[in-house]
Amino acid sequence: MKNTKYVFVTGGVTSSLGKGIIAASLAKLLQERGYSATIQKLDPYINIDPGTLNPYEHGECFVTDDGAETDLDLGHYERFLNIPTSQANNVTTGRIYQSVIDKERRGEFLGKTVQIIPHITDEIKNRIQILGKTGEYDIVITEIGGTVGDIESLPYIESVRQLLWELGEKNAISIHLTLVPYLAAAGELKTKPTQHSVKMLMQSGVSPDILVCRSEHKLNEGIKRKLALFCNVQEEAIIESLDAETIYDVPNLMLQEQLDKVVLNKLDLPFNEKPALGEWNDFLSKHKNPKNEIEIGLIGKYVELHDAYKSITEAFIHAGATNEVKVNIRWIHSESLTADNVPNKLKNLNGVLVAPGFGDRGIEGKIDAVKYAREHQIPFFGICLGMQMAVIEFSRNVLGLEGAFSTEMDNDTKHPVINLMEEQKTIVDKGGTMRLGSWKCKLANNSKIKAAYNKDIIDERHRHRYEFNNEYLKQIESAGMIATGKNPDTNLVEVIEIPDHPWFIGVQYHPEYKSTVLNPHPLFVSFVKASLEHSLS
Ligand code: GLN
Repeated sequence: MKNTKYVFVTGGVTSSLGKGIIAASLAKLLQERGYSATIQKLDPYINIDPGTLNPYEHGECFVTDDGAETDLDLGHYERFLNIPTSQANNVTTGRIYQSVIDKERRGEFLGKTVQIIPHITDEIKNRIQILGKTGEYDIVITEIGGTVGDIESLPYIESVRQLLWELGEKNAISIHLTLVPYLAAAGELKTKPTQHSVKMLMQSGVSPDILVCRSEHKLNEGIKRKLALFCNVQEEAIIESLDAETIYDVPNLMLQEQLDKVVLNKLDLPFNEKPALGEWNDFLSKHKNPKNEIEIGLIGKYVELHDAYKSITEAFIHAGATNEVKVNIRWIHSESLTADNVPNKLKNLNGVLVAPGFGDRGIEGKIDAVKYAREHQIPFFGICLGMQMAVIEFSRNVLGLEGAFSTEMDNDTKHPVINLMEEQKTIVDKGGTMRLGSWKCKLANNSKIKAAYNKDIIDERHRHRYEFNNEYLKQIESAGMIATGKNPDTNLVEVIEIPDHPWFIGVQYHPEYKSTVLNPHPLFVSFVKASLEHSLS
């Protein structure tokens, strides 16, 4: 049983400073020093989870093994730390209020007025300590979403204040991430926004122990001293965070700035000198020195916002490094594709990935893209909706099942080759009701998928309501598309492939969620390898 210590990370001045990457980098460094660390994200919005949010609003919805639909920062945590997260790692205001209100209805506060303080703040404090109470972690890093000063983050900041006091010095510390902007006209870095942000935090009773300052220019000693003096922070605890070429450089940058050392000192934990980031740097050097370059088309309907496909693009970075190849993504909007312009828009691609998604917008463009990749022997990778579209394309154009479709797009289709899963038919609520989380899949012998994983049984994460309709399995297989992965208990088709094609695989699950720096996903590695071979042929 570990005596868990806590690090709280807040942000100020603006949003999008990259708190998640700083938190993940710090956790990575602590892990390298021999500490077990995990990260939790508290999101101040009222949705119970981001599962019902449009990706344009929020970027990708990341799914954990236990089926939680969570913030995309959890993806970064997993990719950096190489350990899975769970529902406990992401808490929203909606979830906090829901549990407090449920308790009120059960009579747990009988006789009392239920209030933000203490009831909401107590619930937040419990959620923060849940991970600590497992006894698994030396350090839990809790990232508070939003920006200090937002009305909706107030209960979180108050909870942090209380915990800092209750847990006491050396058991809990606070890091504030801010921006030190450069004014070109004055030729100067400006500390005032940071001073104001810290003042605002102090008004809520939290005095930061460490300032991490995002900046486009180096902070000289004078600036650091000024920040230290006016923000009440030790000079060594003013950490500069310059823009990085890749997010995977940030752990090294924080190591140079000794963020880990300052944190361990403040938590009164020994600083173990040992070679840091060995395997990580091997990855980085391969990532930065590719021997080849390939181009993969990512076909989706949210391509204007790359964050909507965060785990996929990161999985390509990991798999690219393994293959020592730079993977360039050509972002292709599925709505812009027509049967006529596909040859032009997909010209010279070495691989085609049809992305996950929901609803019928841009769907025919996805089907056209599958057809082109299938007919032109271009490596094809379909994920979730992408796999479903591969089945539809094959049914229509190879089997000749005219109008074959998914009942998601056409409830009255003559050939529902993809249809709603039986257990989904009675479900009306939209939130948290898909087939979510980790499920087993058995891979067929002599298949490309089995060669990629080199395993019989895999566990992968899911997020869908529709499935391959097994009534069409025989016909589809006899025409040359084979179901090479199935759920061993229910026979749900998890993987389809076309053996008579260089690399054509569709998966009902989401492999991208499990790719990490130290564990690049085997299917992405295999797809990138096939795309590389395509580029060299
Ligand atoms: N819309 C499809 C389904 O619900 C695919 C979902 C996805 O791509 N994540 O089955």
